[in-house]
Amino acid sequence: MPQALPDTPPTPAAPAADPGLLQPWRPDWEERKAGKDCPHCALIAASDDQPWGLKVFEGEYVTGILWRAGNNMRGYTVALWNRGHACEPTDLAPAEAAGYWLEVTHLAAAITAVADPAKMNYETLGNAVPHLHTHLIPRGRLDPAPHQPLPGWCFDAEPAPEDVFASVADQIRSWISAHPTPYVGADASLTPGGSRHEDG
Ligand SMILES: [Zn+2]
Repeated sequence: MPQALPDTPPTPAAPAADPGLLQPWRPDWEERKAGKDCPHCALIAASDDQPWGLKVFEGEYVTGILWRAGNNMRGYTVALWNRGHACEPTDLAPAEAAGYWLEVTHLAAAITAVADPAKMNYETLGNAVPHLHTHLIPRGRLDPAPHQPLPGWCFDAEPAPEDVFASVADQIRSWISAHPTPYVGADASLTPGGSRHEDG
């Protein structure tokens, strides 16, 4: 079985006896939203090669990690907000939010170029780990659930062979290398502290 990301979408469980039953969130949920014991903050600082994935993008606002899981999810990547802990897009300053979504879409463009999906899915959930991140899920032209959200069991599927996985990572990195993130014009607020994009 592949290594699971801390917030791996769970395999759907049997319906509750009372589907209308309302349940509370975990007792320390507000603290976790504020950053308590955040595994994604630790992840951002970790090495490129994770048990569950390879870092394919290191942007000003987003770190992209290709998930080593799901042979039928070629190119599946998690984009993580990398400028400290934040929970919601609405927690960001406007320029930060613009930078986040710009890099998320740029990473998605790289995945699209490599995986040629029938449809790209963007899932910004955070119901398990409340650190801002977006799951970029390229849906195959042959797919387990066309026209519907991807079933949870797909996330637990056996990963692609390692050489295939590494090749996908290299292709995504190569595309990004050939296509620098198109930051908006000369808006310095999108390039805090100076940027490689001011060079040319
Ligand atoms: Zn965090």
